[in-house]
Amino acid sequence: MEKKSYKIKGMHCASCANIIEGTFKKTDGVTSVEVNYGTEAVKIAFDDKKTNLEALSKKIEPFGYSIVMPSENEPEINQSKKEKLDEIKDQKNKVISAIPLAVISIFIMAWDILSQLKIVSPMNYDTSEFFHHLLPIMASYMLFVVGKPYLLGAYRFFRYGKANMDSLIGIGTITAFFYSFIVTAFEGPLGKFINVEQTYFDVTIVVITFIALGKFLEARSKLKTGDAIEKLLNLQAKTALVIRSGSEKEISVNEVVHGDLIVVKPGQKIPVDGVVAAGTSFIDEAMVTGEPMPKEKKVGDTVVAGTINTNSAFTFKATKIGSETLLAHIVKMVQDAQGSKAPIQALADKISGVFVPIVLVVAFLTLLTWLGLGTYYLGFLKALSFGLMSFVGILVIACPCALGLATPTAIIVGVGKGAKEGILIKDAATLEKLYKVNTVVVDKTGTITKGKPELVSIKNYSPRDASGQSNLNEEEVVAILAGLEKNSEHPIAYAVMEYAKNNSIEIAEAQKFEIIKGKGLRGTINKKEYFAGNAKLISDLKISFDLKTIEAETLQGKTPVILATKSEIIAVFMIADAIKPEAIEAINNLHKLGISLVMLTGDDKNTAEAIAKQVGIDRVVAEALPEDKLVTIKTLQAEGKVVAMAGDGVNDAPALAQADVGIAMGTGTDVAIETAGITLLGGDISKMVKAIKLSKITMRGIKQNLFWAFIYNIVGIPIAAGLLYPFFGVLLNPIFAGLAMAFSSVSVVGNSLRIKGMKL
Ligand code: ADP
Ligand code: MG
Repeated sequence: MEKKSYKIKGMHCASCANIIEGTFKKTDGVTSVEVNYGTEAVKIAFDDKKTNLEALSKKIEPFGYSIVMPSENEPEINQSKKEKLDEIKDQKNKVISAIPLAVISIFIMAWDILSQLKIVSPMNYDTSEFFHHLLPIMASYMLFVVGKPYLLGAYRFFRYGKANMDSLIGIGTITAFFYSFIVTAFEGPLGKFINVEQTYFDVTIVVITFIALGKFLEARSKLKTGDAIEKLLNLQAKTALVIRSGSEKEISVNEVVHGDLIVVKPGQKIPVDGVVAAGTSFIDEAMVTGEPMPKEKKVGDTVVAGTINTNSAFTFKATKIGSETLLAHIVKMVQDAQGSKAPIQALADKISGVFVPIVLVVAFLTLLTWLGLGTYYLGFLKALSFGLMSFVGILVIACPCALGLATPTAIIVGVGKGAKEGILIKDAATLEKLYKVNTVVVDKTGTITKGKPELVSIKNYSPRDASGQSNLNEEEVVAILAGLEKNSEHPIAYAVMEYAKNNSIEIAEAQKFEIIKGKGLRGTINKKEYFAGNAKLISDLKISFDLKTIEAETLQGKTPVILATKSEIIAVFMIADAIKPEAIEAINNLHKLGISLVMLTGDDKNTAEAIAKQVGIDRVVAEALPEDKLVTIKTLQAEGKVVAMAGDGVNDAPALAQADVGIAMGTGTDVAIETAGITLLGGDISKMVKAIKLSKITMRGIKQNLFWAFIYNIVGIPIAAGLLYPFFGVLLNPIFAGLAMAFSSVSVVGNSLRIKGMKL
């Protein structure tokens, strides 16, 4: 059963996520479910013989939620964005209508306080009577129109016993409203027992205004946290210019098939992934890889969908279409990662899950305490008034809204920011782990060196004839080696093939070709068996070879490739791979972050150490077989290190998976992308520094958010309960509770958005 994501409508808070998750968990046929308030989506797997989407949606509809059904015609993201925009517009209208009412209420309240302090004279009787009748009307509008969601929340609590944040606000404002309403309606008979002049219509009005304003601002900024996905989707070209039956024809990108020849004019987007078939051009890949410089692409080079052709027209063959393109993979990865839960969130989830019922209990106990103890010390009238204030205040300030937003909003922004820089993060857990990394293990070829090695020297040892001439000339030994390397994908093979091509050497035909893992390869040419590889391979063959003869070159960082038959050495080739200039700086920066570097390579020990010294790597593990790579990671972990491993090849996959964080470089092979927690597009090690910094700032953002979200509740609830009253005579007016509430959510989302602008 596959886990799929669906958007959910009607979520207002973290406890909504708990209610929905709880309901689905109890549903027959559902095998796994994860609801995320940050993305307002559910990740669910279910047995479609036992239940379906409609039935699932029906289950949560009584509580005020529904699943947004995926539509065939429109991408889900646009659909849910449109709905979100409508919802926000509606929220905005309500807030605009509420603000004047809140201003009037605050004005009356302020006048009242000022007149009690004898700063202004009291309102005259007519004015005061006018407001006395205006307030209930305004409060009714606020509660029944603007505050409808909270009213429904309270209703659901009484009907189904499920309480979310809306229920708390609802119960609080309803209490204030109905108490005031009854007092005003039965002024005469009640006047004997309580102070009928004391009403709380203003509390209803102002609290709902603040909460609605907060929700509106929150929803608006939350929309901005997720815009990275939208930007990625906009990179996708809508049409493609294909060559069909000899002529160019513009078709929808969905109609492109594998093997189509596609023409891209300057300034146009590349519609699908493929390989250049004719022409050359510079292509701007910044939007996909984050690399600022346009890259030259020649025949045989790969191009990816979403990048832009800058200067001249060229033709390419489509190799990956639709959901196979790199861009589609990136979108999916970003979406999944944004929807995933960070382990740090578990605590917040647990707390908000039990928070609402606890708060309800606390609020009731507080009211009872006021009525009991308060009446004893202050008399019934004051106690009732204070008790009500406390009750409403607690319900309002206790909302763990901000708590539910703290982690997901920061994750959404962090993951999105990464994608913009060509840093693809698999899930929130990876992002959370990355900042703890203190050891980075890197591959040599392609990570520290350019991965475009060159064959720089040849020593021909082939058997001599009578005249002392070699049996095979230089061209012939290259032809044999190239015949073997033709079948390999190692960068060494690339160097050999280039050399053969540039020197117009005809490549020999090899049979029975076989890779010898971590050592080299073998094959048969003209019925004779040949081996090519490193010193290990030669010692396996039990051929004696004096490594001293190549020491001078390996100490310069060149890699030896030894060509041999079963019994004798034929030739030794030296391969040089230039160091990436940016590697030195990146390693320097990693050191500054307190990270030590280990180079892990299958290459010759001298070669590896020479390179490591040049770039400042701390530790070298050379001549490693693929299985040694895995062991090295385990050893480092056993030393207590938190290890990130950067690799590219298929044989790195187990080590990538074992590392605390696996980092795939370049577009990599598909295997590496899937095993890796992080993919650095464009294959540049300096991005590793950025990725770690990103993790650090995202985690710092989350911790700040959690702090701010908690502090409001921790400080607010006791004050609202009146704990300070016996000592300082201070009681929190529910209006300030509303203000604090709105402010906490908005500040949390705002803090998350700040991550967007931070320098990596
Ligand atoms: P790495 O990617 O770190 O080089 P590999 O396991 O891919 O690790 O290769 C280990 C070593 O085996 C290489 O450094 C090289 O000496 C030898 N080798 C691998 N492939 C080839 C090849 N195609 N031709 C010659 N030597 C090879
Ligand atoms: Mg390799």
